[in-house]
Amino acid sequence: MIPAAFDPSLPDLPLRFGVVGIVLALTCLLMEGWAVLAHERLWHRALWFIHRSHNRPRAGLFEANDSFALFNAPPAILLLSWGTWGSPGWPTTLAWAIGAGISLYGTAYLLVHDGYVHGRLPLGFLDRFAYMRLLRAAHRVHHADEAAPFGLFYGPWELATRRAALRRRAPSPPRGFE
Ligand SMILES: [Zn+2]
Ligand SMILES: [Zn+2]
Repeated sequence: MIPAAFDPSLPDLPLRFGVVGIVLALTCLLMEGWAVLAHERLWHRALWFIHRSHNRPRAGLFEANDSFALFNAPPAILLLSWGTWGSPGWPTTLAWAIGAGISLYGTAYLLVHDGYVHGRLPLGFLDRFAYMRLLRAAHRVHHADEAAPFGLFYGPWELATRRAALRRRAPSPPRGFE
């Protein structure tokens, strides 16, 4: 069945597809921002008792930290359901695009973070991409220091910013030694 978001009775389908593409991409970008914020302000503070399980060796197939994946699922399911079964129009089109963006980001996070970086899925072939190797190195720094970078896809830039800030803060050599 065709989701209400793309109902053939709607007059401006090409425009609708364009807007869906843009909103979907923007949602993914915002989700990385949300991930940085939630990871730093929630997971490493109030929710540390759950996130802690991800910073220790895993005893079985799953860790308590995996439950974070379920946080963003209900809003995504609600938005996608409304965008699929609601009445055709812009509100349902936008809801579908945002729901799809959250789902796409969640899937990418799961595959790249848990699957590739932590080796829980056979995704080693991603090693051939320099960006993926950088991303993994940056995430390892997060695990070693339990500090920034808190982002995943944005991790390499966050790490570079953190290092630049540390260099700026480093005491300058005493006069005569420059
Ligand atoms: Zn963490
Ligand atoms: Zn991790």
